[in-house]
Amino acid sequence: MGEGKRLVDKVAIVTGGASGIGAETARVFAGQGASVVLCDVNSVLGRSVVGEISDGGGNAIFRALDVTNEQQWTALVAETEEMFGKLNILTNVAGISGRDPKELTQVTPTAGGMLEDQSLDKWNQIMEVNATGTFLGTRHAIAPMRRAGGGSIINISSICGIIGSFANAAYHASKGAVRIFSKAAAIQYAPDGIRVNSIHPGFVDTPMTKPAHSNPELAQIRLEATPLGRFGTPRDIALGCLYLASDESSWVTGSELVIDGGLTAK
Ligand code: NAP
Repeated sequence: MGEGKRLVDKVAIVTGGASGIGAETARVFAGQGASVVLCDVNSVLGRSVVGEISDGGGNAIFRALDVTNEQQWTALVAETEEMFGKLNILTNVAGISGRDPKELTQVTPTAGGMLEDQSLDKWNQIMEVNATGTFLGTRHAIAPMRRAGGGSIINISSICGIIGSFANAAYHASKGAVRIFSKAAAIQYAPDGIRVNSIHPGFVDTPMTKPAHSNPELAQIRLEATPLGRFGTPRDIALGCLYLASDESSWVTGSELVIDGGLTAK
């Protein structure tokens, strides 16, 4: 049973699992034999993804989690160890662009305002979810992973954590923080066998990018910037997560896996 599967016997937490890249990562992990604790602020969608995984024979549960809430992290990790006996994989996917959710069609190439239009509140909100949320999850995963004899932490950054763009400096800063935080954590916990890597997606079709990609002019700008000539799919990113989660990447830590259709190669 489970022969040929790449995550047999592994226990994984996936944040942002209700939608887009997180949902697909949870599906792929469960399909490869992992027990998945799928977390999100969106309980309705999260439970529906878990239902789909369970119907397909996978092992997944949903737990509501706001990644900025440390008490919720403490409870989640304790419950995961209690239910499944250990924690092997943490994938920090939850994130926000900072775009106004009422804005159904984006009109500027980058979601979010120019520096002068970006308030301190907006900066703090983006940093809190994208950067602080990743810090909290990583911090709380260390002790259980040490008890499990090691583990893999995968932090979703972005090409925006490597290069700048037209606007939304707060998003760039938050994703740059995720990138370098992952390297610092990788060095600190390598002696414990805990690997920490970041993934840097380019433009991927998800609910987050729908307002931009449904604007033909913006979609064209983004496609022209992407040498492989198409948007990424959540699966393109989930398969990168699978590699970093599996023992196939046992000598990989502190690295940044760019999955962007060639965009940053230019
Ligand atoms: P998505 O479809 O919007 O999914 C993100 C999920 O995270 C949503 O379910 C969202 O819930 C949830 N979330 C937001 N704040 C949260 C919080 N505080 N605690 C827990 N969950 C929270 O976006 P996606 O495109 O899949 O993005 C996933 C990750 O990839 C993000 O970190 C994003 O920055 C990164 N990324 C995406 C792209 C891309 O092109 N799509 C490119 C580079 C990087 P709500 O919808 O209720 O807010």
